[in-house]
Amino acid sequence: MTRRSIVLLGLLAFAPALAARPAVAQVTLFEGARIIPGDGAGPIENGALLVEGGAITRVGRKGEILPPADANRITLDGKTVMPTIFSAHVHPGFQKGLSYSAENFTRETVLDDLNRALYFGVSAVMSHGIEKGEVMYQIRADQADGRLGGARLLVAGRGIGAPNAGPGAAAYAGIAYEITTQDQARNAVEELAARRVDVIKIWVDDRGGRAPSLPIALSRTVIDEAHRLGFKVSAHVFYHKDAAELAAAGVDNFAHLVRDAEMSDALIATMIAKGIYVMPNIGAPERAIHAAVPAWFEEPYLAGLLSSTVPAEVIARMRASFTSRDAAAAARNRQNYAILQKNVAKLAAAGARIILGSDTGLEDHPFGFAEQKELQMMAEAGMTSAQVIVAATSRPAEFMGLKDRGVIAPGKRADLLVLDANPLDDIRNTRRISAVYIAGKEVDRAGLRASLMRAGN
Ligand SMILES: [Zn+2]
Repeated sequence: MTRRSIVLLGLLAFAPALAARPAVAQVTLFEGARIIPGDGAGPIENGALLVEGGAITRVGRKGEILPPADANRITLDGKTVMPTIFSAHVHPGFQKGLSYSAENFTRETVLDDLNRALYFGVSAVMSHGIEKGEVMYQIRADQADGRLGGARLLVAGRGIGAPNAGPGAAAYAGIAYEITTQDQARNAVEELAARRVDVIKIWVDDRGGRAPSLPIALSRTVIDEAHRLGFKVSAHVFYHKDAAELAAAGVDNFAHLVRDAEMSDALIATMIAKGIYVMPNIGAPERAIHAAVPAWFEEPYLAGLLSSTVPAEVIARMRASFTSRDAAAAARNRQNYAILQKNVAKLAAAGARIILGSDTGLEDHPFGFAEQKELQMMAEAGMTSAQVIVAATSRPAEFMGLKDRGVIAPGKRADLLVLDANPLDDIRNTRRISAVYIAGKEVDRAGLRASLMRAGN
């Protein structure tokens, strides 16, 4: 008998006892809150939802749903319940306190970022390339096995670009694939496919003239090969010309807006016809339009969440970045930012598939904070609060392939964001977090905060 079969027999010996245990699903009735389903349907006032074994089984009005006598009851009068937030473009693991480097990229740093996200009500994040070694794959596997908490991590692996035209910052050097041939394009996709990545990331940008961009012929090979193997491709873009070529080639998502021009009606029509997703991703560049501390930085609920999860010296550096910028540079950046806002408004008006992605994890653009700020910027660019909520919940969950969540509806997992005020009135109310539930269980946010502040990150 091999050692393996002895282990298997040992497991079998336990199996009858486990199977004999009665399958009692814990039942909880949440009642009294306004329920925002997250799929664009209107809110249910004075609502109720029944959760059994971590899944939503019924949604209706208070008094309509009669739970079993032994069910837990949670009264949420005056609160609003919406799905938790899904963030489709993040880069965990690089920032630890004031330092930002590839050396920080460890399991601990990535987990801190995932815990930070969850504290802000973000239940799942999709890393968008620039991933070193095995850490990300191991965390993803441990979460899938239920051994690890934090926001659920989806991965893209290393990502693919042209030499010196991939990810921008010095901390990222050497991490992504740098390709120049069709064989290299196919090999990179095959390696990533073998790791079962959740998306394949490409960079199509000349980085302000720093290096030749990834040619469309190579992008097309990556897209075709990825689709053949059943994977989606998300493209970092900058120029309108590249976006139009990538849309024609069948890319699945734009990880940024076009940034050199207003997006044409023809491009937007192609995106809608092909179901291409798009991330506004405007919160990071928005920081550069200020030469004084902006009002959003002082908004008490956002500031409160930030000071609960990020060390004071990082917050001080964030504050100082505004006042150290000269007014002329800020004015130039404001003109560029106006193009981004116009593109968001056009995409929203046309009904494009807008999803939350904020390049979270860039330096001093912390997890959870970046998402909560991005929602405000999307609204200020011209989206309604209802549109922003869809773009933060059901749409990104759909893009990320998380079919069992992102909407408050029967059959979906009970991932709930309970708020003290209505985000349909003011999108900033998504920061007024009363509680977060994952699969019907309340997240220990005080514990998350304590672990983040103890770590001194
Ligand atoms: Zn990015």
